[in-house]
Amino acid sequence: MNKFTNLTKVIKEEFVFFLITTVLFLQNTIFSWRDWTFLNVLTFTTSSLFFSYLATSFCYLTKSKMVKCILYFMFTSLCLINIFLRFQFHTRISPNIIQLLIETNIQESIGFIETYLSNLFSIICFIGVGVLMFFVTYLERKKDILLFSKIKYLHKTLLTLTFLGIPSVCFSYFTLFRCKETVEVEQWVTKYQTSPMDNITNLVYSVYDVYLMKKDLEIAIESSLSIKEKAKIKNEPLTIILVIGESFNKYHSNIYGYYLNTNPKLSEEKKNGRLYAFTKVFSPYNLTSKAIKNMLSTNCIGNGENWADYPFFPSIFYRAGYNVDFWDNQYDPLSQNSFDFSLNSFLHNPIIKDLSYTRTNAHNYKLDHELINNYYSERQESNNNKNFIIFHLMGQHFLYYDRFLHNKEFDHYTTDSIKQNPSFLTPMSKKIIADYDNATRYNDSVVGMIINHYRTKNAILIYLSDHGEEIFDYQDRHGRSWERPIPKQVIKYQYEIPFLIWCSDIYKDKYPDIISNILSSTNKPFSSDNLCHVLFHLGHIETIYYKAERDLISPTYKCPRIIINDVVEYKNDDIH
Ligand SMILES: [Zn+2]
Repeated sequence: MNKFTNLTKVIKEEFVFFLITTVLFLQNTIFSWRDWTFLNVLTFTTSSLFFSYLATSFCYLTKSKMVKCILYFMFTSLCLINIFLRFQFHTRISPNIIQLLIETNIQESIGFIETYLSNLFSIICFIGVGVLMFFVTYLERKKDILLFSKIKYLHKTLLTLTFLGIPSVCFSYFTLFRCKETVEVEQWVTKYQTSPMDNITNLVYSVYDVYLMKKDLEIAIESSLSIKEKAKIKNEPLTIILVIGESFNKYHSNIYGYYLNTNPKLSEEKKNGRLYAFTKVFSPYNLTSKAIKNMLSTNCIGNGENWADYPFFPSIFYRAGYNVDFWDNQYDPLSQNSFDFSLNSFLHNPIIKDLSYTRTNAHNYKLDHELINNYYSERQESNNNKNFIIFHLMGQHFLYYDRFLHNKEFDHYTTDSIKQNPSFLTPMSKKIIADYDNATRYNDSVVGMIINHYRTKNAILIYLSDHGEEIFDYQDRHGRSWERPIPKQVIKYQYEIPFLIWCSDIYKDKYPDIISNILSSTNKPFSSDNLCHVLFHLGHIETIYYKAERDLISPTYKCPRIIINDVVEYKNDDIH
């Protein structure tokens, strides 16, 4: 009994700290009141009390004001970031957010701060933190003001509840750290943590998931090293160009029915019968890294295959005898803080580079046309005339205003050009839409520039975006979001992507069968993680990795399950 009294002393002496940190840890649970059940409220309250008790004991034992201030700062920041994410992006700290933080370079961070930290909500948050700090300092000085802290048995009750948290915390962490793959962590979330976790567990789980994804990288390299086969290819000159766009909302392209002529050059190609637009193509993720890893691997998400367990398909082209050039405008080799773990640590890993590319770019550029100019100024005529060229563009990545050339041609749309008029649109949001549409028009000219190099060659170009982007399409929001469950409108604007195939006249004359296959496939549903099969088909590559039933333009195509962000299965005509 005496020991129990000693343990309550920690709460008694540091009651203000104990109370405030418990509330900070419980923020996620409090804000997700819609998901409350008796059991999850009890679980997350007791685990918050447990973590708070640990921190309070540390303060109590060290008796250091500095330690206390640092802990207050850390826990308040954690809570504030969660609140900011909730109100701006309808999410909280998650593996995706941690991944985004790791991937973000200085330029993007400045853009982010400019966009979000200067708006009204952020100013309210800063004022809120100021008020909280004042309140905490006041309470710490005048502890006696909290009359309810003198309630008989209060401290003992709180300590009992803290002890109740121990089994659930032990169980959660034991089962979490038993997970050895990201897929298992997903299952752990679904099985044990469906309700909003306390802020500490949520942070630990997010970081651990990112750590496991880093391990995926090692597996992915091993998978590409394991390619033993040298695939057969036809001995004739052929150039295949893969252009990977960025954040392209296809409903902002006139090719897909938009009222502004944002794709004048590509529309002209379509009118002249050289360009084919596919209408039901999805990205399995709305996050660049996951979307492209799956796009460039030979896995199939619909069959439950993880991207890292299967070879990187540019390696198969390279091994088969193609010159593979990779010009990436999202890779900044000078940046120290972006690429420890992310898409780029995979795409530009030295082993992957050796296995997959003939040449890569040395620099990235502010604008995409500069990247393209750089490629064609440095291009060397290859010996065997079999080329596979990948361009990874900045496309329409926010900030949209920074994604196009500011001249008469591309400062084309203004707020007056934006004719849709739902009540939520302000002049400022119309300006953002006009910037996005200008960026799309500029992107059209970049793809047009590439096409112009191949008009008289045996060449074929595939254009697709990594994912979509919301641009005030149905509510007052632009960008991407990660809410669960995923609303249909989110799938439509953030996961549907443009998918275009352009063929030179020579290519069209040479392969009428392929053209007729393309023509009969434009309305079939497809997920971009199966892209490799279309490219093996177009590149006449005979490989064990080719699966005709996953190849969109094969007559025997049988659409695998289309899974959106690991949770939603797309059913035909769900959206249209
Ligand atoms: Zn992206």
